[in-house]
Amino acid sequence: MKKKLIAAAVVALASTSIAMAQNSNFNYNVDRFADIEVLRYQVPGFDDLSLQQKKYVYYLTEAALQGRDILFDQNGKYNLVVRQVLEAMYTGYNGDRSSADFKGLEKYLKQVWFGNGIHHHYSQDKFVPEFSQEFFDAEYKKLPLEKLPIQSCDKCSQEKKCDKANELLALLDKVIFDPTFMAKRVNQADGEDLILTSANNLYEGVTQQEVEDYYNALKDPNDETPISYGLNCKVVKEDGKVVEKQYKIGGLYSKAIVNIVYWLQKAASVAENSAQKAYIAKLIEYYTTGDLKAFDDYSIMWAEETNGDVDFINGFIESYGDPLGMTANWESIVNFRNTEASTRTSLISENAQWFEDHSPVDPRFKKENVKGVSAKVITAAILAGDSYPSTPIGINLPNSNWIRAAHGSKSVTLENITDAYDEVASGTGFNEEFAYSDVEVQLMKNYLTLADKLHTDLHECLGHASGQLLPGVDPDALKAYGATLEEARADLFALYYLADPKLIELGIFQSPDTYKAEYYKYIMNGLMTQLTRIEPGKDIEESHMRNRKLISEWCYQKGKKAKVIEYVYNKKAGKTYIKVNDYQKLRGLFAELLAEIQRIKSEGDYEAGRKLVETYGVKVDPKIHAEVLKRYEGLNIAPYKGFVNPVYNVVKDANGEIKDITISYDENYIDQHLRYGRDYSPLTK
Ligand code: ZN
Repeated sequence: MKKKLIAAAVVALASTSIAMAQNSNFNYNVDRFADIEVLRYQVPGFDDLSLQQKKYVYYLTEAALQGRDILFDQNGKYNLVVRQVLEAMYTGYNGDRSSADFKGLEKYLKQVWFGNGIHHHYSQDKFVPEFSQEFFDAEYKKLPLEKLPIQSCDKCSQEKKCDKANELLALLDKVIFDPTFMAKRVNQADGEDLILTSANNLYEGVTQQEVEDYYNALKDPNDETPISYGLNCKVVKEDGKVVEKQYKIGGLYSKAIVNIVYWLQKAASVAENSAQKAYIAKLIEYYTTGDLKAFDDYSIMWAEETNGDVDFINGFIESYGDPLGMTANWESIVNFRNTEASTRTSLISENAQWFEDHSPVDPRFKKENVKGVSAKVITAAILAGDSYPSTPIGINLPNSNWIRAAHGSKSVTLENITDAYDEVASGTGFNEEFAYSDVEVQLMKNYLTLADKLHTDLHECLGHASGQLLPGVDPDALKAYGATLEEARADLFALYYLADPKLIELGIFQSPDTYKAEYYKYIMNGLMTQLTRIEPGKDIEESHMRNRKLISEWCYQKGKKAKVIEYVYNKKAGKTYIKVNDYQKLRGLFAELLAEIQRIKSEGDYEAGRKLVETYGVKVDPKIHAEVLKRYEGLNIAPYKGFVNPVYNVVKDANGEIKDITISYDENYIDQHLRYGRDYSPLTK
């Protein structure tokens, strides 16, 4: 599970002393287009790694970049051809590069790179091109045939035209310009066939019912160590039968996986310890066989290896891209430990049992023995696949419930990423615009950076790891609502404990007001400011956003009588504000909701979960929404942020041996994506 940034703009710049060896003159801003701001991040501490560690990181970054095409294809059947044709058009264009059509093409291509396909990474809606179909068609016809992603035939080379090229153009016209075709990547709308109405490429020719029947027949309710069904496959119909097509060497995405394995093998040769070597070997076995049992074995070995400094994920991990939450998108993050900042998370994980024992949930749903929740603060060295360009700020893995219970999990906070967000967020005027008064602005200024980090730590390290299912409960019982409720559970656990005196006792917080900064921001965001990410007239769909709305709205409604949270309308300014009147009562409400959501999860109470999400987490008040959008527009802040990666340069000695790896930070957004398209696209060659 991942924690994403709540709203980059809300984070105030308070203490940056934790940011070790960050270059203060660093230029974080890279690009700005549509609703996106692209940043770059620093990798402090890389130069201090040993040569062997640097090589290890480097080989792993290569393995990470090789999977990019997989995600494009998972996100939509035509994404790779769209990207290829657009890149050929963009680089070969001879006309006026300042024309409206060309600018529109460039913007669209930047969006496709950012979304890893033709849909918005967050809203899941299809991008709307701001260039004409006539322009596109004319440019397409100018492209040399060898630039087109089609197998050329005799006819093409002789007559310089080809039916295939024309067919592809007709298809691209439909894919890019027809708003009703593949309109939504992941559809979560209650009551619809979520498979048929989602444009992703994880299923083909099957209905939701058929998929559910297929897996229900496979699952053994008495199996206490079930594999993660469907995690690494596309489900299709062949000869009238539902079958899985696995992602593996010799299966789907074979060419990319072969390359990933090549770099993983090199990485294994310079790993820091034998446990890392062993889990890389297991990962390679899984990539080779597609066997999900091997993936479970790998996950256990990975979760239990906590001695090395360098760590990574590489594979089909998170299933947010599947409306049924089964098939995972490919991603990779390579990182190394930030030793100084990890002291904070160690304190939390060492006290994991105390937190579990004192949580406000029914004792039947608590873990008697919280298994090794290892938590550390890390420095990301590369972001790839589903973690690029938009990236999480915290990750807790593995996702398999029984593995977490029996073998523990690893929780990480990506501090160099949050530091980059913090740096660019200061001085945007966001808090001043939306906070109720100077009191809240000051609270956030003083405490939010730290409170936010703790929220991420607690969410990842304890929240997701807490609680247990009652025996026999299907971990997928909450179906399409599972992801939202799981995020809510982790958030509530974190929110509840942020206000606990234990954090002061542990020396993590100095001021008893620290938690209030996070409480205020959380509610303001859940009820109001996160709406900046929703188009007028639309519902909330993304699971992390639904979770925040669900929590905030539920607390608002339940605390209405006691006026725990209030909407205050300033008539003169024509502006609405959120006011939190009683922070301790708000904590009580968090506790109550946490208990209920844990019950829903532990009992697999689908109906109660569905009702909770649909009642509190989906609908938007159109009046408030319009107001928020208007006020936000005035601030001129991009609602979504993402990153370019640094470039790793190999320095060799006279014998061709690697003598150093250096980092440069000078690549811009367009150049990076064009380079990745050239050098890391095994599925489009
Ligand atoms: Zn989470």
